[in-house]
Amino acid sequence: MDKYTIQQIFTKTYGHAPKLVVRAPGRINLIGEHTDYNFGYVLPGAINKAIWFAASRRDDAAFHFFAADLGEIFVSENGETVFQKEKSWANYLLGVLSEARKDGYNFSGVNLAFGSDIPLGAGLSSSAALESGGMFVVNELYNLGLSRMESVKLAQRGENEFVGMKCGIMDMFASVFGKENHVVRLDCRNLEYAYFPFDAPDITLVLCDSGVKHALVDSEYNTRRAESEEGVRLLQTFDPSIQSLRDVSPTFLAEHEKALPPVVYRRCKYVAEEISRVEQACVALANHDMKTLGQLMYETHDGLQHDYQVSCPEMDFLVDEARKDSSVLGARMMGGGFGGCTINLIKNDALPAFIAEMQTSYQHKYGIELKVYPVQLANGTETVDG
Ligand code: ADP
Ligand code: MG
Repeated sequence: MDKYTIQQIFTKTYGHAPKLVVRAPGRINLIGEHTDYNFGYVLPGAINKAIWFAASRRDDAAFHFFAADLGEIFVSENGETVFQKEKSWANYLLGVLSEARKDGYNFSGVNLAFGSDIPLGAGLSSSAALESGGMFVVNELYNLGLSRMESVKLAQRGENEFVGMKCGIMDMFASVFGKENHVVRLDCRNLEYAYFPFDAPDITLVLCDSGVKHALVDSEYNTRRAESEEGVRLLQTFDPSIQSLRDVSPTFLAEHEKALPPVVYRRCKYVAEEISRVEQACVALANHDMKTLGQLMYETHDGLQHDYQVSCPEMDFLVDEARKDSSVLGARMMGGGFGGCTINLIKNDALPAFIAEMQTSYQHKYGIELKVYPVQLANGTETVDG
């Protein structure tokens, strides 16, 4: 998908040229997993795979949304935002627009067409790109004056309350705030952020899509949140100033190991260490030290596999295979767990061999065709025309 294609699709659908073209990217998270709801740091970046939107205002109040990849059009004649059971993709757009209206933002009809090259459901946050991109489009069309951060917060509310997915803010934030050749450290406690260069021309970021999604995702996610909260509650008895695992250092935690049930201790240990790893990763990036960054990623995977226990055999296999290859600097599962992609740092010249070997061994072990996506860090949501 690109600017010209979506312009053409729009013109064919609506009989006139679009007023605006917007690119809203997917995202990766370099390091900092399960740290968002513990008020720690994450280190995501936007990628060069995106949803492309073409849009114009309408004279009436109707919403016309054309999902080009599905060949489906959704129409709301009076601009009502009602949950859709059939065309469920429309909920990602309706949700954020409904939240914007609750906050008093006024806009009327929209003609919209969108198409994407972000793989769906692989953990690259196509849903966040759809939500925050849709909000960005309406903000531009109707000059609503929303700041980028406001549109991110509305997109998250749309997904939490309208779509009904309890996700954190990172996905929308990364899609909107990404910057070419940079990752961005977000402090989930206060939403302060800082860019760090991913400056390694000889290294490629590569995603390996396990192609599996185990049913455990939602229930285990809620369990991990509860276990983290229990850890906080118990540790507060030693230091009342502790509000979240962000306030717990690995040393403090080790001193109070006996006070926690063993499973809760392991969960807390992972989170405290992971928050510290994000800080170390930022130092490594500032020093252009990709070797250290890669080591930290492997450590994250170990923690997710053994202490936080949200990995799965398929992703462990992909990381173990990567470890055997000396041209891979680091690898880990990415996202909430129990399936999705692994993220790998690979020397460019070894990339073709890596892809071939991983595909062969994964096919052999699981009978699944491994999809591999090399990605580059790209700008966040932006107007590309109009
Ligand atoms: P992820 O965000 O990890 O890609 P989700 O399950 O959260 O996966 O979101 C995927 C959903 O977002 C799809 O099922 C669909 O409803 C919607 N979506 C994303 N991209 C598109 C697209 N190009 N066309 C239509 N719907 C899309
Ligand atoms: Mg999503």
